Amino acid sequence: MKNILYVGIDDTDSSEGMCTTYIGALVMDELKHYGFQLKGHPRLIRLNPFAPFKTRGNGAISFNLSLNSGKDAKKAKKLILNRVENLSELQHKNTNPGVVFYDGIITPELETYSMTTVQKIVTIENAQKLAVQVGAQFHKFKNGRGIIGALAAIGYPLEDRTYELLAYRIPENYGKKRKINYKSVLEMNQKTYPQTFDNLDEDEDYIAIEPHTPCPILYGIRGETPEAVIKAHGILKTCETIERIVVYATNQHTDNHLLKIDHISQMDKCKCYIAQGFVENSPKTIEGGHVIFNLKDDSGSIDCAAYEPTKGFRDVVKNLKDGDLLKVYGGIGNKGSLNLEKIHVLKLAKVYESRNPICECGKRMKSAGKNKGYKCMNCGFKLRYGTKNLIEVKRNIKKGFYEVPPAARRHLSKPLIRK
Ligand code: ATP
Repeated sequence: MKNILYVGIDDTDSSEGMCTTYIGALVMDELKHYGFQLKGHPRLIRLNPFAPFKTRGNGAISFNLSLNSGKDAKKAKKLILNRVENLSELQHKNTNPGVVFYDGIITPELETYSMTTVQKIVTIENAQKLAVQVGAQFHKFKNGRGIIGALAAIGYPLEDRTYELLAYRIPENYGKKRKINYKSVLEMNQKTYPQTFDNLDEDEDYIAIEPHTPCPILYGIRGETPEAVIKAHGILKTCETIERIVVYATNQHTDNHLLKIDHISQMDKCKCYIAQGFVENSPKTIEGGHVIFNLKDDSGSIDCAAYEPTKGFRDVVKNLKDGDLLKVYGGIGNKGSLNLEKIHVLKLAKVYESRNPICECGKRMKSAGKNKGYKCMNCGFKLRYGTKNLIEVKRNIKKGFYEVPPAARRHLSKPLIRK
């Protein structure tokens, strides 16, 4: 009878280099080389985007090993721990790797803990206590904060899922400009979208599959199935060597980070929400090109922001007016404003403009001066006591969903194309 060993790894990288997904890919290839069998797809689980110590996308990984004996387990664990220790950016202050091994069943407590780690803030003690309770082994390097994510990646109930194919560079190219053929990205997108998505942003001439950090990733293709991302990878052309690829099953683009709430007053920093309310102060553009408006309900109000990197989405937001009923999707960072990922315009308020009256001759009249009524420039008719007319203005926005472009999309945020 074969045993399954769940392996979770997190917090191995820093902003200067390395990547937990790459350490995972190396370790898995090495294990396969030594004859170990992996069961199913490895998993890339994105955790709370507002967790305080994240490097970039707050990702942790896990994979399942199918083992024959206790001796095998010992050998695999030794190899994994050695690799994590040697490859992690341990010299970096905020890199605190954690590795978790678990050979039990995934309990409801583990699943709940994982969802909490995606939606809220947890502590190293929370993770450690649960690991002890379920009988998981954990290994902490330095303060071992990584066990938080490592355990969450093991326990996460990956019901709605997408896939990401990651292609890695050879080490001598790290930090250099990535050489991806733009035309081949267009072709790949034409042939595989929407089975793959967020490949590029044609309006901005932006290749969204390419990271902009010195990490080992050359590109990442996101899609609905392993077949789709592999097909897309086959179409892409690059002018640099790909060292290896891996396809992760992931909770990216599932909206699983969003907490549904009934009242705006329930909102808190470092969490993400779906909330409903009325626009209170029409959007204003502030320094830096960010567009801000206020959303309110009976319980309170919150500033909502379409930040500069959301580009054309800001033009949509600028068309909102006081009284519009919206559902907003987004997260609250340290500034306390809701960083919009998408909006659902549920009801448009009627907006009126006051205009001078129309003359009997059909032309719009002009003001005759303060408190002097109106006069017609066409026929000379005067209206001593006329008042302005209220005219309903045609709105420049329709009911429906609007989202940020791929370049500004959060890993967890669900694109509208994924029903
Ligand atoms: P990358 O995406 O480049 O791999 P990262 O953004 O995933 O890097 P890490 O270096 O993994 O960042 O650091 C995130 C740290 O925060 C990890 O130690 C992880 O265990 C911890 N963490 C993750 N989610 C939470 C949470 N909800 N509450 C508290 N800590 C968390």
